[in-house]
Amino acid sequence: MFTIAKTEATHGIWSADQQRPAGPGRGMVMVDVIAAGICGTDHHIYNWDSWSSGRVKTPMVIGHEFVGIISALGEGVTSHKIGERVSAECHIACGDCRFCRTGNAHICENTEIIGVDKPGAFAQQVEIPASNLWRIPDAIPDYHAAVFDPVGNAMHMVSTAKVTAKHVLIVGGGPIGLFAAAIAKAHGARTVTMQEPNASRATIAESLDLDLVVNPRVDDCARRILELTEDHGPEVILEVSGNGAALNAALDIAAPGAVVALLGIPGGPVELDLGAKVVMKGVSLIGITGRRMYETWYQVEAFMLKNPELMDKVITHVLPATEFGHGFELMDQGACGKIVLDFQQIQQRLSA
Ligand code: NAD
Ligand code: ZN
Repeated sequence: MFTIAKTEATHGIWSADQQRPAGPGRGMVMVDVIAAGICGTDHHIYNWDSWSSGRVKTPMVIGHEFVGIISALGEGVTSHKIGERVSAECHIACGDCRFCRTGNAHICENTEIIGVDKPGAFAQQVEIPASNLWRIPDAIPDYHAAVFDPVGNAMHMVSTAKVTAKHVLIVGGGPIGLFAAAIAKAHGARTVTMQEPNASRATIAESLDLDLVVNPRVDDCARRILELTEDHGPEVILEVSGNGAALNAALDIAAPGAVVALLGIPGGPVELDLGAKVVMKGVSLIGITGRRMYETWYQVEAFMLKNPELMDKVITHVLPATEFGHGFELMDQGACGKIVLDFQQIQQRLSA
């Protein structure tokens, strides 16, 4: 079958012809992929940065945001039927550790991620535990359903930070930051500011009708954000850039008692004057990983059903899966919002 895989431990990503999985194991299902989103994490793996080269074992089929049709059920699966349209939580939690057993499976000690630790969804078929599946309502189109996962990252971050009636600063207008901006508005933030240096991404942010969009390359961001917030500074900061300098600058203007949710993955260690910027200001730093299972999925489904036009603004490209190379180049340039790969042509070709 056609797959997109990290076959060499170096910069790049390649198509690879692979054996189809033998069939779903006990408690597992096989899903024929219809569409899959390219995540910032896939881009890290493509670039082979220190995080990905330390974690991913080659060869590895990548991709973890997807929608597809169930084509086979493993032994013991009674919860789902062949033919159902599903997405899935890509973090496979153990179900056994103290975190899983206390409703915190998103921080399971034994998490494995498809497309990172085991074969992923940039493939004709992906095998996934039935307990990770999410049925997609008919009203949600394939290209929206393919990105439940990153909308879930944004939803988990915004919900955890509690933005209602707060001045919110979002640092980083990649797809997750853009989804977060739309969600923060929907959650009743007092103001939403997006800070993003890339012009095409800033243009997408402008289309979301936010209170302020600032560019750290050309604007005096601190002054403009302080003006908007009547000199108080943002009460909630959502860090979605992974840029340590940007985090430091945001902390400089954070209101005392601010909540700072960190979702962006820095390329390496980040230096921070904790005493001045966090301790003495009573700031809370919160790491955000994955999505709450499955509270976040209910929230995302409701958001997608109510806001299809916002989804269409952030998803800027739907490319045939075979054009994945172009997708990664667009991400290199930041000349895109969310990119979705369409696997349907490949499915049809293989069944013809
Ligand atoms: P992305 O990495 O392309 O988005 C980052 C954005 O930050 C880019 O648009 C970039 O131009 C912008 N940026 C760079 N410098 C900036 C600065 N000084 N100020 C403001 N913005 C700046 O794409 P994404 O998919 O939205 O991912 C965002 C981050 O979240 C990535 O680091 C990704 O690896 C990480 N991530 C984390 C999780 C998690 O569970 N914690 C899950 C998925 C992705
Ligand atoms: Zn666990």
